[in-house]
Amino acid sequence: MNNGKSVAVIGGGAAGMMACCRLTDAGIRPVLFERNSLLGKKLGITGKGRCNVTNDCMAEEYMKNLTKNSKFMYSAINRFSPHDTIKFFTSLGVPLKTERGRRVFPVSDKATDVVLALKNKLVAGGCKIINERVTGLESENGKITTIKTEKTAHSGFDAIILCTGGLSYPVTGSTGDGYEIAKALGHTVTPLIPSLSALECNGGFCEKLQGLSLKNISVKIKDNIKNKIIFEDFGEMLFTHFGVSGPVILSASAHMRPMENGRYSIIIDEKPALTHDMLDKRVLFDFDKYKNRQISNAMGDLLPQKMILPFIDLCSIPYSTSVNSITKAQRKVIVDTMKAIELNVSRFRPIDEAIVTSGGINVKEIEPATMRSKLCENLYFAGEIIDVDAYTGGYNLQIAFSTAVTAADAIINIFTEV
Ligand SMILES: Cc1cc2nc3c(=O)[nH]c(=O)nc-3n(C[C@H](O)[C@H](O)[C@H](O)COP(=O)(O)OP(=O)(O)OC[C@H]3O[C@@H](n4cnc5c(N)ncnc54)[C@H](O)[C@@H]3O)c2cc1C
Repeated sequence: MNNGKSVAVIGGGAAGMMACCRLTDAGIRPVLFERNSLLGKKLGITGKGRCNVTNDCMAEEYMKNLTKNSKFMYSAINRFSPHDTIKFFTSLGVPLKTERGRRVFPVSDKATDVVLALKNKLVAGGCKIINERVTGLESENGKITTIKTEKTAHSGFDAIILCTGGLSYPVTGSTGDGYEIAKALGHTVTPLIPSLSALECNGGFCEKLQGLSLKNISVKIKDNIKNKIIFEDFGEMLFTHFGVSGPVILSASAHMRPMENGRYSIIIDEKPALTHDMLDKRVLFDFDKYKNRQISNAMGDLLPQKMILPFIDLCSIPYSTSVNSITKAQRKVIVDTMKAIELNVSRFRPIDEAIVTSGGINVKEIEPATMRSKLCENLYFAGEIIDVDAYTGGYNLQIAFSTAVTAADAIINIFTEV
């Protein structure tokens, strides 16, 4: 089936490896350019080393979890859906399990099993790996003729898939090279911003709590310009020296567009299971129990130790206030504050710390049904390099897999027609 045709895949991450697997299934032996000596370095650290490989949902539900350009993904997700991803990895001998929020992980909890399965398959299919960093693509009459690397130049490829990833976690090899390579060919790259990112906060409250993790809290995000709650979720968060991080915060960050200093507030409900009245009764109970203590020594049953003094500061109550002298108005402040600790966001953490890059090759310049460049007839894109991104939950790897399969299938179809 190869017809003497050859395909180059640039970037051996989630998308590149999936594309190679698909091509080898059709009897094509692609050449994979990867700058690292190992394939799938980022894939190997996904999901805290467990790899949330996809989300077990239907295509319609999947589309709702894309943060931008969801229409562009429609064809790709229908060509290779989350259920296809599950079938694919199961067939490769990586049994999967589904957890809370339909998040799918390997039963082994090892992301490296996913990397190894992909690598073994593409190597077994005859894929040639070249460990060189690609520096540019040369084109003639709208067709790529040469792949330039740091060491040499390679030519003679009929089709090229560019899938060098985004800008985040550059130690994994994803340093944004593909954006520059595509720009040099005339493509435009939409602004690159962090998504699924930790947040820096104004005020100094977080600094005092650094290292403290809160579980079972609710978080709301308020857009102060629109005076509107734009996000709400339950879960876990972490205070750091710069602000806040943790699963709920990363999810929330994808909704904060555009980011502007002071525009967004995080409202934390420490006791989401209790109404104001229920919490007031609970506070009264504790204040009765500790009535002879100072307020700073009476809140240990309600708040984590590290939070007590900063919290009392927020309530503007002196630490030495005796519990039996707390007024009804002060108690109301305590209850209201516990239900709504407000932090003001200054900015995202730098993009190299983000989980994904939002922005990328302009989707208007890519055919959605084939992932082919509208500017270079034998160039295709796949993965995070494209201007599509999603919320947490396995949706981002699914973007990589679906776009990779779409590009590979389009190339296979062209070769078959010839
Ligand atoms: C810490 C972390 C955890 C994550 N967890 C999850 C998760 O659990 N579930 C999920 O859905 N998503 C997760 N993501 C996001 C997910 O990893 C990415 O969306 C996905 O890896 C993108 O795949 P890709 O193939 O486009 O890019 P990458 O996986 O980044 O691969 C790009 C590859 O291209 C290579 N490359 C770059 N430039 C060149 C060059 N010039 N020449 C040759 N090779 C080059 C790189 O070395 C790299 O191997 C996580 C991301 C991070 C950072």
